[in-house]
Amino acid sequence: MADPKTGPALSLETLAIGAGYDPADHNGAAKPPIYMTSTFVYPSAAVARAVHQAFFDGDVPERSGKNGFIYARLDHPNLVMAQTRIATLDRAEDSALFSSGMAAVSTLAQCFLRPGDSVMHSRPIYGGTDMFLNTHMTEMGVHPFGFTDGVDEASLIQVADAAMAKGPLTLIMVESPANPTCAIADIALISRLADRIALAQGRRPIISVDNTFLGPFLQSPLEHGADLCLTSLTKYAGGHSDFMGGSVSGSAALVGRLKKLRTLLGNHADPHNCWMLLRSVETMALRTERAVANAKQIAVFLRDHPKVIRITYLDFLEEGSAARAVYDRQCAGPGSTFSFDVEGGEAGAFRFLDRLKLLRFAVSLGGAETLICHPATTTHYAVPEENRMAVHIGPATMRVSVGIETAADLIADLTQALEVV
Ligand SMILES: *Cc1c(COP(=O)(O)O)cnc(C)c1O
Repeated sequence: MADPKTGPALSLETLAIGAGYDPADHNGAAKPPIYMTSTFVYPSAAVARAVHQAFFDGDVPERSGKNGFIYARLDHPNLVMAQTRIATLDRAEDSALFSSGMAAVSTLAQCFLRPGDSVMHSRPIYGGTDMFLNTHMTEMGVHPFGFTDGVDEASLIQVADAAMAKGPLTLIMVESPANPTCAIADIALISRLADRIALAQGRRPIISVDNTFLGPFLQSPLEHGADLCLTSLTKYAGGHSDFMGGSVSGSAALVGRLKKLRTLLGNHADPHNCWMLLRSVETMALRTERAVANAKQIAVFLRDHPKVIRITYLDFLEEGSAARAVYDRQCAGPGSTFSFDVEGGEAGAFRFLDRLKLLRFAVSLGGAETLICHPATTTHYAVPEENRMAVHIGPATMRVSVGIETAADLIADLTQALEVV
């Protein structure tokens, strides 16, 4: 939804600062007040009935004008502001905000999957998403099918056929670039695959793309054929490792279904979190630019270091490869999170991690500070070893999320830590 006051002609960078908030609606407050209220007073019984009708009977939960709020779990003013801003950045009609990225993932899966359905998902995929689909959703009677090559049509068709043989294939969950290996999936190709699936089973699966690794300034999944764009806002949008949130953007009809389920699950974003998000995304473009520039220097340093044996930085994708072609078409930049392997297996990796002084050893990514972790024993601990090894998450694999410090300071720290590998 483009902001009616500013229109779609403005750049995303400009819209990130103002979309969704008009001081004139809030006593001239230059910045959004936080509406710390759980409930809203109805002006009359007739209005009360009308807003409930609009919320519960419409295809899309809708507020009717100024007096449209009912109860904060359903909707609240800060949620509307933040959703408008995120929808604008994702170039979507609407967006639903959640209390975390996993709240977004789990609500999406439960909204569009029923017992007996099949779901296809890229692999590797965020550890929590993998676990949710392959434990909880499996217990609910859903059949997950992972695919490891998101740019190869023949193997995608093979997985889709196997999935359809088990049950209606109603959802394709893609993460591109993938956490932590930066594996790329071709969204346009998967959209064509969905057309093919529609012909075979009479129903087109919904395609969701987790855009957490690049964010709206570097990739717009909806423009390439995704139906829904999912983001863990905890990462680059929050941007300071002090916030949790998630979003799903797309058509008003699909997002409306998610909002209705969110009301029942109670996992919306609260007023304070929405306010934090609005503030954080104002600087997201600047942070992205700086982190991307830093990451490039660090990736080059690591690639050329004799003790680094493998690196998955996107700009190093081989010219002429299928993944390179998709990356060039689909992404506006390589982002600032990637993985690399050092010599010496797990022992080498652990010695290196324990020696770092400036880089912080922690899970998560997208903060102002550089974070590094060891996926096999942390973020992807719950993923079976066989599945990890199949996608090159090995004993010496580290994931680094480059922050906005001075690159030379980060390189100095990496240099001294690599000495003990
Ligand atoms: C962190 C992350 C999630 C989950 O988000 P939370 O905010 O931690 O719940 C989902 N997808 C990706 C790619 C992530 O990195």
